[in-house]
This record gives sequence, structure tokens and C-alpha cells, in this order.
Amino acid sequence: MWQYSINPLSAEAKKIVKRYSSIPDLPDAIFELSKKRILSKKLDTATLGSVEDTLSLHLIFLSAGLLFTPYSVEVRFVKEMVYKSTRKKLENIESELGATRLLRQLADKFNITEGIYDRETETLHLGEEVFDKKEIFAESQSPDKIRGGRGTVDMQKSRGVLDGIRDRKYGVPWKTFLPLLKHKEMRLTDWYIKGGLVLVSLLDLIELYSRLVAVEVFEYISKIYTRSKGVEIDERIKEIASALTEASKERFRAASFASGKAKELSFENFPPCISTVMNGVTSGSRNYGISVLLTSFLSYARIAPPRVDNPKISDFIKDEKILTEEIVPLIYQAAERCSPPLFDDQPQEKMNISYHLGLGLTKDIRLENSGASKWYFPSNCEKIRREAPGLCRPDDICRKIKNPLHYYFIKST
Ligand code: SF4
Repeated sequence: MWQYSINPLSAEAKKIVKRYSSIPDLPDAIFELSKKRILSKKLDTATLGSVEDTLSLHLIFLSAGLLFTPYSVEVRFVKEMVYKSTRKKLENIESELGATRLLRQLADKFNITEGIYDRETETLHLGEEVFDKKEIFAESQSPDKIRGGRGTVDMQKSRGVLDGIRDRKYGVPWKTFLPLLKHKEMRLTDWYIKGGLVLVSLLDLIELYSRLVAVEVFEYISKIYTRSKGVEIDERIKEIASALTEASKERFRAASFASGKAKELSFENFPPCISTVMNGVTSGSRNYGISVLLTSFLSYARIAPPRVDNPKISDFIKDEKILTEEIVPLIYQAAERCSPPLFDDQPQEKMNISYHLGLGLTKDIRLENSGASKWYFPSNCEKIRREAPGLCRPDDICRKIKNPLHYYFIKST
């Protein structure tokens, strides 16, 4: 019962979702519950552990994955809500049912070793390892050791015997935290590690577990996003998406996406095919590589619009300079690096670039022309391999994605 109410991706929760996997057959009440939970900005308002609780949560994940990029404020909002509600539920278990019950709850993700405190030597024995007083109470450790965390360490250094929620007396294998390290939610250098075990308190465990669940939900939503292009979307799912937009805009009012400014491009996160085109390509791949692939990739990566039908650049950015000073110069520079330079013998390709940005067949890069043609979405990897096989030099991340834009979003988050 508790298990799937705390971790929405637990095996039990997934079993429920599988049992009710036909979206059109789900009653309206579940969709309403999803919206209510979003608009109340709490994912924990429903009865803990109920089937409705699980289903309404998964509808939120589905809606976020189907209609928004992993970069969006909507997905950030869901991730934050999952983190907060998980944390709150775990804190309630600790305060109402005690530490032993909490440890049992956490055991589905953490292999926890409880240490034995030696009062005489004031040391903690964790398996083969011995931690001294300084390591256990560690007043010098940063309270912000979990990135973005909320002061989890507040150690009571004067306490002689370990028994409180803040005392570090547990060990967890450091590899458990790989997803948090990957998403830069935690830095190993901030923790005491011996014999492969990270020394943590009960409060740290609550924090780390909550972040782990939130990161897993984020990856789950990203997976839905990468696999769902072109699927038909139920109207009720779209309504949940609208609720997400409304609630997240309020929450992230000052955030760059909400004000129509997407993130600056991170070149180090480009997939191999795009890096290759950026460095200039030879005549066989020039037109496709520059005018189609690079143009669509850079514009979508920079602007990161939510998934809507027939998007127009002017719907998402208000500052023309994003086009004229950021996106288009990069495309023109890559065209210049081609062999031979693309515009030397095909100056008309500048119009083709505008065309693929949705600005129509013109050399003028003007935001007001948005909608004069279709704004092209980057081709899938399969098509890239067909059109320009030399551009695809897959690496490890490529195995997880079907579109270069998804590669970028995954590596950037
Ligand atoms: S697999 Fe896709 S993203 Fe990776 S290099 Fe090939 S085309 Fe690019």
C-alpha cells in the first residue's frame, strides 16, 4: 500500500498503470483528480496508496511527456512536485511511525547498513569501516551538499550517543546515487565515503531518496517524450497539460522559459551528427546537413517550444535577436566551413534556411515572417542516416534516442 504511494514508479505502481492502460476507458474523475493535484501544487492531496492516486499521477507524467520538452517549466514543475511530495510523505512516516518503519520504506532503493556506535572510542562501526567523531558529526560539511538542497546536515555535534534523525550512522553504497550524480543533484566530494559506503543520516536518506524518485520520474517523462512523436493525444490529457502550464507559469514566473526566452545553446551537449555539421561538411551532405538538419536542430534546441501543432517561432520568442544574432549566424558559419563553402556556389540556400525556420522563401530573417512556411522539426536519426549516412557517428547516448534533439535535451539535463 505505502510502497506505490511513495514511489510512483515502483513495480506495484507500474502494475496498476498497466492494468488500467486504456486511456479512453478511464473515468473523467481520474483526469479531474490530476488537474486538482496540479492546481493545488501538491501531488499528495489524494488518498495515499489508492489506485486513483497512482493513476492520476501517471496521467500527469504522461501529459508532461506527450506535450512538453524535458527542458520545459512544466516538466521542471512536475519534478519539483514529485520531490516535495515524496519528501513530505517520508517525513510523515518518520514522525508518525518511527525510524524503523522509514528504513523499511527506503529499502526498495537503498541497501542501508546501520552502524554501531562505540561510546568509549566515540567511533561508528559500519561493516568493516570505522568513522571517527569528526566524520559522524562533521560540523564543517556544507549544509548545501545536496545540490539545491535545503540544509540537510544541521548536525548536533555535542550529542554523545547516536539516536536522532540528524545523526550520521547509516551507510549506503555510493553507486546507489549514480542517477543523482548524473543529473548534478549531488556531489560525491561533499560526503564521507569509506569502503564504498556513503555515511548518511536519516534526514539525508529522506532527502536523497526524494531526489532519486524525482530524477527517475524526470527520466520517465523524458522517455515518453522521445517515444511519442506523432501519437494522437486524448483531449483530457491536453486539459491536464493546460493545468500544468498554468501552475508552472505561476511557480516559475521569473523563469526564462515562461517569459519566452529559452536556454542558451550548450555546444558540448550537441550530438555527434550536429557537431560534425557545425564543423563543415563536404558537398554530398551540405544542403541537407546545413539547410535542413542544422537549421531545424539549432532553432528547436535554442527555443525549446512545447509540443504544439504547427508551431511558429514568434509564438515562443519575442526578441528577434535570438534569430539574427544567435541561431542564424551559427548556421551561416557552419555553411562557410563547408567544402566548398555552401553559399559560394549556392547563395539561394539562405532562402532555404529561412524557409525551414518557418519564415518563408526569403533572405530576410524577420520574426514577423513567422508562419510563412512550416517550421521544420529536426529529422529522426533514421532519416538522417538515410539522407546523409556520413553524418551519423553514434556514441553511447545515441543508443537511447531516436532524434538528435532528444540527445541534446537528455545530455543538457
Ligand atoms: S544516432 Fe542520431 S543523434 Fe546520434 S549521431 Fe546518429 S543521427 Fe545523430
